[in-house]
Amino acid sequence: MTQQRPFVIVGAGLAGARAAQMLREEGFDGRIVLLGEETERPYERPALSKGLLLRTTERDSVHVHDAGWYANHDVDLRTDTRVTALDRRSRQVTAADGQRFHYDRLLLATGSRARALPIPGAHLDGVLRLRTLADSDRISDALVDGANVVIVGAGWIGLEVAAAARTRGATVTVVETADLPLQRVLGDQLATVFADLHRAHGVTFHFGAQVHEFQGANRVTAVLLADGTVLPADLVVVGVGVQPNTELAEEAGLAVDNGVLVDDTLRTSDPDIWAAGDLANAHHPLLGTRVRVEHWANALHSGPAAARGMLGQAVSYDRLPYFYTDQYELGMEYTGHAPPGSYDRVVVRGELTSGEFIAFWTAQGRVLAGMNVNVWEVTGPIRQLIRSRQHVDLDRLADPTVALDSLIRQG
Ligand SMILES: Cc1cc2nc3c(=O)[nH]c(=O)nc-3n(C[C@H](O)[C@H](O)[C@H](O)COP(=O)(O)OP(=O)(O)OC[C@H]3O[C@@H](n4cnc5c(N)ncnc54)[C@H](O)[C@@H]3O)c2cc1C
Repeated sequence: MTQQRPFVIVGAGLAGARAAQMLREEGFDGRIVLLGEETERPYERPALSKGLLLRTTERDSVHVHDAGWYANHDVDLRTDTRVTALDRRSRQVTAADGQRFHYDRLLLATGSRARALPIPGAHLDGVLRLRTLADSDRISDALVDGANVVIVGAGWIGLEVAAAARTRGATVTVVETADLPLQRVLGDQLATVFADLHRAHGVTFHFGAQVHEFQGANRVTAVLLADGTVLPADLVVVGVGVQPNTELAEEAGLAVDNGVLVDDTLRTSDPDIWAAGDLANAHHPLLGTRVRVEHWANALHSGPAAARGMLGQAVSYDRLPYFYTDQYELGMEYTGHAPPGSYDRVVVRGELTSGEFIAFWTAQGRVLAGMNVNVWEVTGPIRQLIRSRQHVDLDRLADPTVALDSLIRQG
């Protein structure tokens, strides 16, 4: 049987590696080829902007499996192997070095990449983005005491780098086009919590600001804003979002629109090809809409779900989006999906200023999303509240003395 029905996975990140693991756990004994363009074996990225920059996490602890796992489980991991073409008719993928891999079933898990800022000076040394372990190493090396660090973009990555840089003693300035950090994701009230947190730790913000150019001869020395402000810079970290690596799928004629389109079984428009992780724009059966989730937990769970689908098992991937961050003393988890315009109220349980609270995004009395800040062991009931779609009493939702479980009517 081995060699007869090869399963190929393109993209050796978290989703790809976990998919390979699930195939073996479910008893698949055919050939598994896991192709990744990076030189590292699969690793998890969250520590790249947190513990690795803070130097509190061991570099080797971020890998998904230990080095021997792939050989021990007969998974043919090829690092340094960029796939450049997918031919659906002959069912094979071709790598940059010309090697071809035939597949019976294929999983695309090529993830996403950090967006570049196409402005003068973007090529200078010291202007970095953060996606890979090597990027994290370079940023970490530059975070010396007193260095001037300019961060472009006050999203999750930008803010996490800001927190690490301040903690390491750098002077940190964050430039953001919006009026607050994370404004689109969280709305003004909760975004202000993050602005206040960073200000309290000495970060300077320039909101409503555009970066015009990065200045320097070979290495960046300053950042020029559109209003003429010049910010001295020893290091610039550009964190202006990611874009899914859809090129392979697009060129092969798969349906693509903000990611590779998949149904709730994570199958693409080609019945022999699945997509998972950051790459997949999946129909979500519970939310009734498409979502492309750029978070760790989605890669962790959707890779294995796709693997089960590849084995012919019944799959309906309906996990709620989940995300976490750690910045200074603030740890938070966000569960659910509440894009701008989808909610009519934000209900806060606890005091925003206390640093310990839960915020709920609600629509007509139903909870769409919840964010627990320095309050733990509550994602279970938050998830249940969202999944139940029940109308809840918002006064009781806001009352910390009322147990969250008690708000959910059983049956
Ligand atoms: C710095 C950082 C911090 C983060 N922190 C958090 C966090 O705190 N919480 C959270 O929920 N999420 C976080 N995330 C997001 C999370 O890491 C991603 O959602 C997750 O990595 C997605 O996994 P993936 O396997 O889908 O894709 P990826 O991790 O992007 O892996 C895809 C792999 O495929 C490879 N590849 C692409 N194209 C090809 C090709 N043609 N041929 C071969 N290989 C290819 C890529 O090089 C990459 O190695 C963070 C991300 C970053 C970058």
